[in-house]
Amino acid sequence: MTVAAPYLARKVLLIDDEPFVLDVLARQLASLGLSDICKRTDGRQAWAEIENDPAPFGLVFCDLQMPDMDGIEFIRNLARIEFAGELILMSGTDERILETAERLALARSLNVLGAISKPIRLQQLQRVLGPASPEPSRVSPAAEPFPAQEVERALKNAEFINYYQPKVSFANGDLVGVETLVRWNHPSAGLVFPDRFIATAEQHGLIDELTSIVLADALQLARAWQEAGRNLHVAVNVSAASLFNLAFVDQVAEAAARAGARLGWLVLEVTESTLMLDPIATVDVLTRLRLREVGVSIDDFGTGHSSLANLRDLPFSELKIDRGFVHDADKDTTRGGIVLGCLDMAEQLGIHSVAEGIENRDDWDFLNAAGCEIAQGYYIGRPMAANLLDAWQQEWRIQWQSSN
Ligand code: C2E
Ligand code: MG
Ligand code: MG
Repeated sequence: MTVAAPYLARKVLLIDDEPFVLDVLARQLASLGLSDICKRTDGRQAWAEIENDPAPFGLVFCDLQMPDMDGIEFIRNLARIEFAGELILMSGTDERILETAERLALARSLNVLGAISKPIRLQQLQRVLGPASPEPSRVSPAAEPFPAQEVERALKNAEFINYYQPKVSFANGDLVGVETLVRWNHPSAGLVFPDRFIATAEQHGLIDELTSIVLADALQLARAWQEAGRNLHVAVNVSAASLFNLAFVDQVAEAAARAGARLGWLVLEVTESTLMLDPIATVDVLTRLRLREVGVSIDDFGTGHSSLANLRDLPFSELKIDRGFVHDADKDTTRGGIVLGCLDMAEQLGIHSVAEGIENRDDWDFLNAAGCEIAQGYYIGRPMAANLLDAWQQEWRIQWQSSN
């Protein structure tokens, strides 16, 4: 069987202003076993039918360019009535427009099965309708954040622990450092990820305390490595609220002194969008950090809309390309182009480049060929407790040697 069973019974609506396209598509679908197929050349009429009674239509194919209603308007309309059926977008123009439309539909929580370019080939249809195709992608709602009182209690009970994710050199596979990622060892909910408590901590004045706990542990690791003669840096994520706190730079210096760790081995990661919040305060605090030899990394780069002109005067030491652009960069020309642009910018600024979100060998190969310096992601190693880093490193060595 070439089509997943649930689709065979669906009522299918095909919308395209070219009758020829409709005929070919209807025949292709019939050859795949779909039998209940309606064809419409008039976008407005098709929309009126759906609006009148959306329930019967389980699968809708819609062309993006129609004279009377474009696909984007159609998507907006479907979202407004919370259309529950599945949607496949089609277009005969630029693939990027098709991809953008697909993202838009996903962002509006429509069940998008796929976006296919015309002329449509049978294999494309099999791919989107096939049993092996993933569950219809729905933008999953963010996990429920924890209330502030719980975060406060957890801070008192020392329930937060640091995980560390390795960063390695593309050139020789060597470990160059780690990124600290905080986890909450919750008594009943298990291991809780930062998306469920960082924003709460930021909004309720708890983030400085959390940052200082994370920093203190990370600096212990830096000291241990220093003592072992290992030249590895430790990166810590810093929220805007902590960064722009006037006492922050001194607090970092004091924490390092308490831990006996050298500041030169610490990197602070600040998201690109944070940096653009207050450019003057940013120059101030970054300069003070760099004067003390703390590294500063621009995190999630590519999502914050800064330009070379914005960044030229800021003393960064590292640029981290957002994982949204890194993973599958080889399969998507837009992502690939953004990655190349980011690497170009790092080179022009004379700073280190890091790719986060390297999930597989293809991601690695693309970024490596593009000249990126440092890799981070599940392909290399997941975030882990500090005591697992040595075992990871041995395994990684073997993996690296066998694939190079
Ligand atoms: P980030 O700094 O951009 O961290 C990278 C995130 O990507 C981490 O998520 C990491 O687990 C995840 N990741 C790593 N490799 C891969 C991969 O190959 N594929 C995919 N899909 N994901 C990967 P995590 O740990 O959930 O952290 C999320 C965010 O929370 C971090 O994003 C950071 O902004 C924030 N965060 C984490 N720890 C702290 C902290 O101590 N303080 C503050 N203020 N923020 C923190
Ligand atoms: Mg980070
Ligand atoms: Mg990031």
